[in-house]
Amino acid sequence: MNVHEQERLFALHQLNLLDTPPSESFDRITRMASQLFGLPIAAVSLTDENRQWFKSRVGVKHWEIPRDKAPCAEVSDSSGVVVISDLLASSCYHDSHLAKMGIRFYAGAPLRTRDGHTLGAMCVLGEEPRQVTDQETATLQDMAAMVMDQIELQHAFGRVDPLTGLANRNQFDEDLQDLARDLPGARRVVLFTEVVDAGELSALHRSMGAAFLDELARVSARCLKRTIGTEATLYHLGGCQFVHLVTEEGEAALLEEALRLRGALLALESARAVPVLVRPTLGIAPFQLGEATADILRSAHGACVDARQAHAGAGVFSKTLDARFQRRFSLLADFGQALEAEDQLSLVFQPRVCQRSRQCLGAEALLRWRHPTLGEVSPSEFIPLIERTPMARPLTEWVMRQAIHQTAHWHRQGHSLRVSMNVSASNLEEEDFAERLLDEMVGASLPHGAIELELTESALIGQGQAALGQLERLIEAGVRIAIDDFGTGYSSLSYLHEIPAHVVKVDRCFISELGENPRTETLVKSMITMAHDLGYSVVAEGVENAHAHQLLGSMACDEIQGYYIARPLTPVAFEDWLAR
Ligand code: C2E
Ligand code: MG
Ligand code: MG
Repeated sequence: MNVHEQERLFALHQLNLLDTPPSESFDRITRMASQLFGLPIAAVSLTDENRQWFKSRVGVKHWEIPRDKAPCAEVSDSSGVVVISDLLASSCYHDSHLAKMGIRFYAGAPLRTRDGHTLGAMCVLGEEPRQVTDQETATLQDMAAMVMDQIELQHAFGRVDPLTGLANRNQFDEDLQDLARDLPGARRVVLFTEVVDAGELSALHRSMGAAFLDELARVSARCLKRTIGTEATLYHLGGCQFVHLVTEEGEAALLEEALRLRGALLALESARAVPVLVRPTLGIAPFQLGEATADILRSAHGACVDARQAHAGAGVFSKTLDARFQRRFSLLADFGQALEAEDQLSLVFQPRVCQRSRQCLGAEALLRWRHPTLGEVSPSEFIPLIERTPMARPLTEWVMRQAIHQTAHWHRQGHSLRVSMNVSASNLEEEDFAERLLDEMVGASLPHGAIELELTESALIGQGQAALGQLERLIEAGVRIAIDDFGTGYSSLSYLHEIPAHVVKVDRCFISELGENPRTETLVKSMITMAHDLGYSVVAEGVENAHAHQLLGSMACDEIQGYYIARPLTPVAFEDWLAR
């Protein structure tokens, strides 16, 4: 092979065009050529080493024909227009592959790159001998130029990653769309390879610099490409993330393939081609052609992240795991609206009664959320999510306002109840938290002693000085503080005396075991005694039966709360319950 041909082939292969799926942007031009010439066959034909491969074609079924005695090859070799009015009359082509297929007429214009390589031909073919006019020749050349524009556009215009020379995310998107047009609904699997995760990547960036990361991406790309072979196109999404498609096989086979790729990347490290600890991880996500690219990539990336967290080399996308994630995402995204809406959030009140007299002393305010599409969502599901976001403030603010107004209303009716509300650790970090609470109570003409704040042990213990200041300010004003879920957090009674609080609420997990487990009984008894010795009043949460109620009586527990007394009730139901 001469040097010129070598360079030509190199230029062709660099474009990553061969054996790619058909693409509408080329098919459009081919259809036009066939129509303009009134001929049944037109093609964008690329001259590979031993074949003519059709990037686009109308009127022919196959994708390629041998290069030998193909008129398109003559176009490539000569870099000029080739017209064969009658193949059967041509000494060169009368016994060619095309002639045997019944083709009589051929006209092809060269697909020339800017640097002078001819990649192949834009050609039209017919089953009858034919002449071409000068104008037709010019048209064919124009169309060849359009094809080249398209090729250059694809190559240069944001479809190839300049670092690795691999197709990028845009190309992936486009190829998926083309594939979906060809095989709508067919099943495929995307393999998502992450050589280094985002966290490690930024650490490496700091310690080793950007050039190092570029090299890491290049080395990984070469290694993956070699391991995958020519079967599939490898795409570089950015950073050290790559994807490629495979056809659907069993899960075991897919995992095996993923681990094979991972093995190849790990071998790089031991071969010192990569002088850092890489933890390549692969995510596998089956999908249907036609699904949105963003969803496909999200699933595959999700599988990869899950696998990394589980310290597995590869993982398959799981619908259930994803559904949980999606649900969490919806809850977070929709809570802001819930705060604005009139009918999504509400408070219910669960009575707290004196253990001995069973007289109602107060109630715990508990938040309820009826999500417009998901229905009732439990606070134990959404609160831990919201608590970690800036929405913790408006959430508690909402509860605070409602609880205070409801309590004030009951006070006006002559029920001097104490209502407790749950507060998140982060609320204490709000500088004006105590101020706002006290102002709200003054505004509602409610005595400060009518509100109790429930905080968990960990929320109380993990606090800095500022938060403790807020607590002291509230206590001074007469607000009561309860330690919620006592026994489940630090669980160390020795911390108790350091916590500024009035009430200990023994967690429901201990109470529900009363009467079943003698050790728990001993534990609850000593918790109550110790709390009393330190001057706290004790509430038992989650009392579900008479037996627990009785046992707690023998332990001198002060208050009880639980389904045995009443479930959390709407304000109206609570008033009915009180009346009885
Ligand atoms: P918590 O503060 O410990 O509230 C007690 C939970 O136990 C409530 O669940 C209540 O309905 C439930 N419960 C009461 N008695 C019984 C019983 O006898 N048996 C059983 N099995 N359960 C009983 P809920 O309402 O689902 O609230 C769960 C948690 O969500 C609360 O635990 C609290 O930590 C949090 N939460 C609820 N409302 C708010 C709120 O307004 N703000 C904040 N920050 N957290 C809240
Ligand atoms: Mg509580
Ligand atoms: Mg509790």
